[in-house]
Amino acid sequence: MQVQCSKCGHRSRKVKRGYYEAKGIADAGWRSYGSALYCPKCVKICNRLEDRDAAIMTIMERMIEDAEQEIEILKGEYQP
Ligand SMILES: [Zn+2]
Repeated sequence: MQVQCSKCGHRSRKVKRGYYEAKGIADAGWRSYGSALYCPKCVKICNRLEDRDAAIMTIMERMIEDAEQEIEILKGEYQP
């Protein structure tokens, strides 16, 4: 999966889902503000950003949403 910047639309490199992957994205400089995510470039412009741990939580929420969407797609393909 990828996470997308709420401001410029930039996407992260593709990563697997999981805590360490979310941590890796946050360590690369991604930060959150509320439910919005900002790429390292936009983080430099916007200074109202939450800490790294908040970013990890936001990224993990995105991962869960992404997995849920995938489940819905798989359900659509399921034909008993
Ligand atoms: Zn951005």
